[in-house]
Amino acid sequence: MKAGTLYLDGVSVVFDGFRALNSLSLVIEPGELRAIIGPNGAGKTTMMDIITGKTRPTAGTVQFGDHDLTRMDEAAIAELGIGRKFQKPTVFDALTVFENLELALKAPRDPWSCLRWVLPPAARRRIEATLAEIGLADRAGARAAILSHGQRQWLEIGMLLMQEPQLLLVDEPVAGMTDQETEHTAALLRRIAGQRSVVVVEHDLEFVRALGEKVTVLCEGAVLSEGSIDRVQNDPRVIEVYLGR
Ligand code: ADP
Repeated sequence: MKAGTLYLDGVSVVFDGFRALNSLSLVIEPGELRAIIGPNGAGKTTMMDIITGKTRPTAGTVQFGDHDLTRMDEAAIAELGIGRKFQKPTVFDALTVFENLELALKAPRDPWSCLRWVLPPAARRRIEATLAEIGLADRAGARAAILSHGQRQWLEIGMLLMQEPQLLLVDEPVAGMTDQETEHTAALLRRIAGQRSVVVVEHDLEFVRALGEKVTVLCEGAVLSEGSIDRVQNDPRVIEVYLGR
């Protein structure tokens, strides 16, 4: 197995007799930016839950490089460098943008370090680089409470980046964003992929188009179609699912 590659092989999840994932197989290469789309109930959230260990597969395997994630618990999977951003941002309102990143850098490794509040120069440089990466360098001293919805989402992405993930899973990042914020988010995700893989679940097809990378369409817990946004949007099976039978 190739280091940093995610393999889902024949993954099924059955809830009370209902098949949320139906022998789903998927490969995400290192550095890839992949969009996952599909109608409600297609199994997108369940797929993210399987990768992060929140839900266990009923059948099939999940591998990340040589690591078998199939029975690993959530904390051990996070330790391997798999991070997840949920739809609702969870930033600390009372702290500044800079302090939120500082906390994200220190706290996961050593919670007590927060009491010894001395920031080494190398850590400061990393935070500053992340601020530039997420486009919030000019907001470093602002309290998170006054940020716009989009800025809060970017800050949370920055907080996840402080943990140096190899694979970042992002749930519907542009829900509720303005067009301009959506564009900024697409550019941000394109920028951060490459150094790590990014998997984005999203409903907004214009955003998925702006990401400009490979798209996987899920339906009834399995892959219905895969390829460029133009290819999947013109796939008769996808049209049927989206426009109704
Ligand atoms: P999506 O994110 O694509 O909308 P989900 O993964 O949330 O789809 O759900 C897939 C199907 O599995 C849905 O029909 C949903 O009702 C069902 N499901 C998800 N989680 C559970 C659960 N914990 N118990 C029972 N059914 C569930």
